[in-house]
Amino acid sequence: MPSLRSFLLLAATAILSSTATFATALPHDHHDHAHTVNKRLPGTWYHPEGHAAYNLFRRGTAQTDGTVYAAVGTPQWTAGYPPAKPDPNALPKAWTDAYNAAVSAGKIPKIPPSTLNGNPVYPQGFDPNGNVVCSATYKCRNNDDIWDAPDGVWGASFDDGPLDTSVPLYQFLKQNNVHATHFMIGVNILGYPDEFKMAFEDNQDDIAVHTWTHPYMTTLTDLEVVGELGWTMEIIHNSTGGRLPKYWRPPYGDSDNRVSAIAKEVFGLTTVIWNQDTEDWSIGQPGGTTRDKVNASLKQWITGPKSPGLIILEHELSNNTVGAFIEAFPLIQQNGWKFVSIAQLDGGSPYSNSPSSTGAVTPGQVAVLDASDDSSSDSSSSSSAAPASKTSSASAPASSPSSGTSSGSANGNKAADSSSSTTSTASSQPSTTGGASQGNSASTILGSGLLTCLSVFFATLVLS
Ligand SMILES: [Zn+2]
Repeated sequence: MPSLRSFLLLAATAILSSTATFATALPHDHHDHAHTVNKRLPGTWYHPEGHAAYNLFRRGTAQTDGTVYAAVGTPQWTAGYPPAKPDPNALPKAWTDAYNAAVSAGKIPKIPPSTLNGNPVYPQGFDPNGNVVCSATYKCRNNDDIWDAPDGVWGASFDDGPLDTSVPLYQFLKQNNVHATHFMIGVNILGYPDEFKMAFEDNQDDIAVHTWTHPYMTTLTDLEVVGELGWTMEIIHNSTGGRLPKYWRPPYGDSDNRVSAIAKEVFGLTTVIWNQDTEDWSIGQPGGTTRDKVNASLKQWITGPKSPGLIILEHELSNNTVGAFIEAFPLIQQNGWKFVSIAQLDGGSPYSNSPSSTGAVTPGQVAVLDASDDSSSDSSSSSSAAPASKTSSASAPASSPSSGTSSGSANGNKAADSSSSTTSTASSQPSTTGGASQGNSASTILGSGLLTCLSVFFATLVLS
C-alpha cells in the first residue's frame, strides 16, 4: 500500500501530467470530427458499468514476464515516454548498442535519407527501384517484407489507432469473433490508453508498430529511425506484460532497404506493407476519395481473384473508414475469404517472446543485442538499480542515468540488462524524467503536435 506521502506525490504527478496527456494525444489530421480538450479529464478514469472498457478490469488473464509495469493510462505510465518526436540523441543505450553492432556487422545498408518532395526523393545515384535502395514507396519489394497474403486469405490490419473511432471497430471484430493486426502510433497509445487496452486485453488482437509520430521513415537519419521504432516497441512491451511485437508497418508505406534493415536487425521487426489501398484515409479531405468509392473498391477486391490473398490498407481513423470495413465484412465472409490477422497469415504469434496475448512471456529486451558482442552487454551493466516495481517510479528518484541524458534513466535500466534470461527487469522503467526529459512545455508539445499534424496533412494530400 502506498504511504500517504507517496499518494500525495502521485496525486500531484497526476495533476501535472494531465496537461502533458492532452498534448500527447496526436489530434490526427485525418479525423473528421473535433476533439474536445477534456478527453483525458479524470472522468475517464471511472468507467460506468456500460462502458466498453469496464470489463477489462475483471479479466486479468494475460500472463506477463513477471515484471510489475506501471498500469496503462496512469501518470507513471505516461511519464515513461517522450510526449512528441523522440530525441535521437537521448536513446536508451541498449538500442544504440544494438544499432552499432548491426552497423559493425555490415547489416545496415549505407543509403542516404530521402527528402520529401511530393514523394520521398533520393540523391542522384540512388535509384529508388534499384536493388540497393528498393523503396517500398516506389513499389520495390524487398524479399524480407510482407506484401501479399496466401491465396484465399484476407490479412486483416488497421492503421493509426488507437483512437476513439477505434471503439466501434474493436466491438465489431469481437462480436464477429475475428482478430486483426493493429499497427498503432505510439503517441496515440499514450493519448488513448483505454482504447489500447480494449484492443489488447478485451479483443486480444495483435498489437504492432506504426512508429511513434508517423513520419516518412526514409527521410529520417538512422538514429531517428531507431527512436521512432524503439519507443513504440517500448510502450507496447511495457503495456502488454512484456511482449515484444514482431511486425511494423511504415507510415505511407515508406520504407527502403536501410529502414527495413534497422527494423529487423535492431528490433527484430518484420516490415508489412499491403497489396491494395482503399485510400480510405482521404475520405472527406480536399481532393480525397469518397465513401462510395471505398465501398466500390472493397467490393471489387472481395469478389475478385483470390490469388494472391489480400492485405488491404485500412484505417481506424474515422467513422467512415471503420464503417466501410464493417459494411464490407458480410461480403468478405460470403465470398469465402479466410479472415486472419497478419501474424496468423504469417503462421505465428504477433509477439517474438510469447505465443499469444495471454500465453507465457519470456522476458526480453526491446533491442536485439548481438549475443556474440560481449562489449555491448558488459559496458551496459551500469550500477543503476532497476526497481522491482515500476509503479513506484513516480515517487521514487529515478535511478541514475547511464548515458548522461535525463531520458537515459529509463534507458539505463534497460541497458543494465545484458541477458534476457537472468532477470525480470529486462524492460526499462518508466520514470518521471523519461517524459520530462524532452524538455517540452505544454505549448511546445502542442505546437509540435500541430506541426506534425500539418505536415502529415500535407503529406497525405500528395501520397497515399
Ligand atoms: Zn498511418
